[in-house]
Amino acid sequence: MRSFYSEVQAQHNPVEPHVFQGRALPPAETAARARRILEGLAAAGFEPPEPPAPIDEATLELVHTPRYLRFLRDAHERWRVATGAAADAEARPYVRPLPGAARREPTSVLAQLGWYSFDDDPILAGTWEAAAASVACAVAAADAVEAGARAAYALCRPPGHHAGAECFGGYCYLNNAAIAAARLAARSHRVAVLDLDAHHGNGTQAIFWERGDVVTISIHGDPDVHYPFFGGYADERGSGAGDGAHHNFPLPTGTDGDTYLGALDDALATIAAAEPDAVVVSLGVDTDAADGVFSLGLDDFRRIGAAIARLGRPLVVVQEGGYGPEVLERDVAAVLTEIASA
Ligand SMILES: [Zn+2]
Repeated sequence: MRSFYSEVQAQHNPVEPHVFQGRALPPAETAARARRILEGLAAAGFEPPEPPAPIDEATLELVHTPRYLRFLRDAHERWRVATGAAADAEARPYVRPLPGAARREPTSVLAQLGWYSFDDDPILAGTWEAAAASVACAVAAADAVEAGARAAYALCRPPGHHAGAECFGGYCYLNNAAIAAARLAARSHRVAVLDLDAHHGNGTQAIFWERGDVVTISIHGDPDVHYPFFGGYADERGSGAGDGAHHNFPLPTGTDGDTYLGALDDALATIAAAEPDAVVVSLGVDTDAADGVFSLGLDDFRRIGAAIARLGRPLVVVQEGGYGPEVLERDVAAVLTEIASA
């Protein structure tokens, strides 16, 4: 199975504390995650990934607005000028408009950091380059599948599924999976996005909410309890042309493998009914018990990989979350081993 990764992605490597459940803790989404996944895949016998081909601005504009892309590219430099901060300092949002009261995009980068985000994720000097390289991996995997591959894997980090058309948060800046899906849809393929991350794919859902050409399915922790909150309820189905094209499977905290696999079977039946030409899988493995939402273990990840492979549809597998010590690399390798051997 072809896979894609670029060392440029390591340029986004936060070190300052990150607010998690209201507490400032060491950052969890760091360059070390990619190194761990690479080691896990090598140990499982996979070939080293290929560097992806560069992408152009028009590819990013398939889902993101030009003004957001401009902001993301220049934000760190503008923030340094505004604050006198050092080159290796991390620019963080800290203020947002009164809900419903803001009528215009602010001009100050300090205000724009809040305007274009929903969380406290930092923008670093290397964030733009890294996030664009992460997108390039997803695009390369989509192109490999379009060219006839049965499956391809994009080692995307920073991840993407929480990023909206003009909003970053949840460790995500550019929506890798959504761009891969939109690229295939723009080339007249029917596409489904299956989001297996433990957290609702809020960015992906928002991007396609009013579109019917990309079906989205997300299986995730109950949004009453789990990040990113506010959405991902079972009655959210899209609107306009997208009405009925979007599907949510919220599950209770601590859900075990059997229950999870049952929900996955329902999700896969929904996908099969849509008869997509390709499925973009947002592969988060933070469903592992180690990450505290569900209680999946190694064998469950093998079952997930086998179930997805049984769909018999071309798969663009895009990395999302997964953090647990020694289980991130193990679980990713388990899913991909089943897909590669199907
Ligand atoms: Zn997650």
